[in-house]
Amino acid sequence: MEKPAEGNAVEAARGRLGLDEEQFRALRSFLEARPFGVPIACDHTHARTEEWAGRMGVDMDALIEALKSFGGVCDCQVLARVTPERFGWRP
Ligand SMILES: [Zn+2]
Repeated sequence: MEKPAEGNAVEAARGRLGLDEEQFRALRSFLEARPFGVPIACDHTHARTEEWAGRMGVDMDALIEALKSFGGVCDCQVLARVTPERFGWRP
């Protein structure tokens, strides 16, 4: 039996992302962190994503390529555009 197209798209997206839900949420929390109550300004690189990947032992280059393919061209765009819904996870 064929799966609904939507299910396939979600599976493909998860495969491309290469993170599980817990890792994905951890990355978003890390990017959203507000030390001293002030959001960290994005310098339009993946500096913070790289820092997280380094700490977690995640393949940095593969992760950044995947995030870019979802429109996450820098740290603030990862938060804005690479949302949990795209992977079938609750917001
Ligand atoms: Zn940015």
